[in-house]
Amino acid sequence: MSKLVEGKHVKCSRCSSEAIVRVTYAKLNLCKNHFLEYLESRVVESAKRYGIAGRAKSVLVALSGGKDSLSLARILARRRSELGLEVVYGFHLDLGLGEYSKTSKKLVEKLCGELGLKCLVLELKSLTGYSLPELVQVAKRPACSLCGMVKRYFVNLVAVELGVDAAVLGHHMDDLLVFALKNFLLQVEPGYLKLAPVARGIPGVLAPRFKMLYEVYESDLKLYAELSGIDYVKVECPYKYVDAFSAAIRDMLNSLEEHSPGFKISLARKLAKRGVEEPPPELLSCKYCGMPSSGTVCAFCRLTERVVGKPMGPEVRYKIREVTSRLLA
Ligand code: SF4
Ligand code: ZN
Ligand code: ZN
Repeated sequence: MSKLVEGKHVKCSRCSSEAIVRVTYAKLNLCKNHFLEYLESRVVESAKRYGIAGRAKSVLVALSGGKDSLSLARILARRRSELGLEVVYGFHLDLGLGEYSKTSKKLVEKLCGELGLKCLVLELKSLTGYSLPELVQVAKRPACSLCGMVKRYFVNLVAVELGVDAAVLGHHMDDLLVFALKNFLLQVEPGYLKLAPVARGIPGVLAPRFKMLYEVYESDLKLYAELSGIDYVKVECPYKYVDAFSAAIRDMLNSLEEHSPGFKISLARKLAKRGVEEPPPELLSCKYCGMPSSGTVCAFCRLTERVVGKPMGPEVRYKIREVTSRLLA
């Protein structure tokens, strides 16, 4: 991880300017510009290591408005050619979560405008008639599990309708490691596929998914966002909570990293190896909307069938097809 240099004057390892960041795992002291360049290069290098660079010409990047996804959008836009990208689309789903959603949407649109990225913003309420809080109330399910399912469904649907080669997700290394260790300690399904840097797709149904921040520390992303002047959402989602078990795992990983800088990167690389060795899942097509499903009806159609009284996948798909064709025109 990286830390701001405090106190005494230290020279940048790459130029004669004053260093402001100490990159502990690489034993580097860097000035602002060299830190930004260093972090971008790490993303490009890991994309090459995992066979992501050059694999897709067009991608959709899911943007929540937080520091991780907005930093990723900036890195993709700036390092487009080294990653073999010709087109990068931004996508934001407005969940209707009050101030949090309003600010997130505004900041996503602002950054996409600055970066010159075509951006698609959809509102859950206008597509389904329900905002996330309303869905939570009628579905009687935990907000984050519902939110995760809805976001996965929309990201894939938009990627498929836009015809992009892949969807890019902003999960960083710290979250991936906590997820993996928690599953291991609880001895539940390890979910190695969810941990692979690349998840294979099925043409026309499931967009391949790339995790391009696989080897990036959360603290580095925060520094990147702040030093590059990215305006990201500081208001927290009203549903956000961190369970005590995950927080303890995060603390343990941080103290191991403190003791052996670079520990998290080597662990992430080992996990990545396990991930790609797993076979792709067996998936069916939802009988209503045609999207991938583990059974005959996908999770989104199942949910809407139960709470709205009809599976909304086909209607939502039709509306998304209309907006994506306008974006492509
Ligand atoms: Fe969704 Fe939960 Fe994240 Fe809020 S905290 S945006 S409900 S996943
Ligand atoms: Zn420098
Ligand atoms: Zn469906």
